[in-house]
Amino acid sequence: MTFRGSLKPHPLLVSAGWLNAPDTQFVLQTVMDGGGTARIVGGAVRNTLLGRPVKDIDIATSVHPEEVMARAERAGLQAIPTGVAHGTVTILAGHKPFEVTTLRRDVETHGRHATVAFTEDWSADAHRRDFTINALYCDADGTLHDFVGGVADLTGHRVRFIGRPEDRIAEDYLRILRFYRFTAEYANGGIDGEGHLACSALQEGLERISAERIRAELMKLIVAPFALLSLSEMDEAGILPRILGRAGDLVTLARLVGIEALNAIPPDPIRRLYALAVREPDAAAALKEQLRLSKTEYERLADLQLPDRAFDTREPETWSQVYIYRSGAPAFRDGLLVSWARDVAAEMNDSAYLKRLWLPDRWTVPVLPVSGKDVLALGIQSGPEVGQILSLLDQWWMAAGFPDDAALIHQRLHALVNVKER
Ligand code: ATP
Ligand code: MG
Repeated sequence: MTFRGSLKPHPLLVSAGWLNAPDTQFVLQTVMDGGGTARIVGGAVRNTLLGRPVKDIDIATSVHPEEVMARAERAGLQAIPTGVAHGTVTILAGHKPFEVTTLRRDVETHGRHATVAFTEDWSADAHRRDFTINALYCDADGTLHDFVGGVADLTGHRVRFIGRPEDRIAEDYLRILRFYRFTAEYANGGIDGEGHLACSALQEGLERISAERIRAELMKLIVAPFALLSLSEMDEAGILPRILGRAGDLVTLARLVGIEALNAIPPDPIRRLYALAVREPDAAAALKEQLRLSKTEYERLADLQLPDRAFDTREPETWSQVYIYRSGAPAFRDGLLVSWARDVAAEMNDSAYLKRLWLPDRWTVPVLPVSGKDVLALGIQSGPEVGQILSLLDQWWMAAGFPDDAALIHQRLHALVNVKER
């Protein structure tokens, strides 16, 4: 069924701040200056109709990429040829990037790889996009264009492929993960059975997709509002173990999601990934390879070694304080939340865990009141030894529960210096 939006400005679009912003209007006018049409497409239109925040602004245009570059430069805007061969130019206006892509239609070559040709046919461009809710366009004045029934699917919370799912997946296997990601974000707890079946049947194609692209989709999926639904379906189909390279622990993840929701803690992709996939000590390194995690992401996974006394609510708070002192409050919270999720005997509003969770707000991280200068003043030559003494003093200070008795601390420092000097 084809649903065409009436060709009148849509009230939600007309009043959207991002559309009325002078930068947006200027970019649209610049691209069209000299002939041709430019429209906003994708996430910005979709999210505005849903009343959700808009992240980035994608523009589709009948103007060819070299001409887009020329028009932008003529208007004094910086234009970056991000992927001119595919038709994409990034225009910077007010320090914001606008991705401008020339209308395309898919051309089959040898029945295998889909290449693209530029076109002036808006409906053809809509049909080569992935899901109906992602193929909505709007003019500079807020007029909505819907060639594939996207508005009806948005209203019905359906994430549906445009055309036969099998065909669309075979063109680009990343669409399997995009299907589960958008389902987790927009389908309100339902899933399109036809799409799911096709993804399940064609999942081997994911082997052809780079780890970086898989990682990017997974990181967005795992924090989406209906992540659990998508991940359970993916797990049942065998897609989740395929992309993680190991079995996923959905029970722990479900508890973590519940604890976060109940206590208004914003989700974090690495914390959730840890809950889902890091059980054994070598899992972090394996995931780093499997998903090409960044160094920082990997270190967050690897540094979190569970179990740890710091996250055991029966232990004194000092252990938690030492953890916060060493690794910071965010790492402490991650560890505590995952430990709580794994402690199946604990309720999701357990008061002991809750009290410990907010420890960083009740307790100010102390600063060792001794510096390198104090060590030098005791006659130690500047060099690595100064650091070693400070580090030993620091360890003692932590273990002693951060005493603020200056005399005691200096007594200890003297003792350490004397040992070194002997
Ligand atoms: P987000 O809010 O995540 O940015 P988005 O819908 O804008 O959502 P993008 O990845 O920025 O998603 O892509 C912009 C648009 O390009 C999509 O809405 C879709 O129409 C199209 N698109 C992106 N990736 C694909 C793909 N792999 N296959 C087909 N169409 C795609
Ligand atoms: Mg986008």
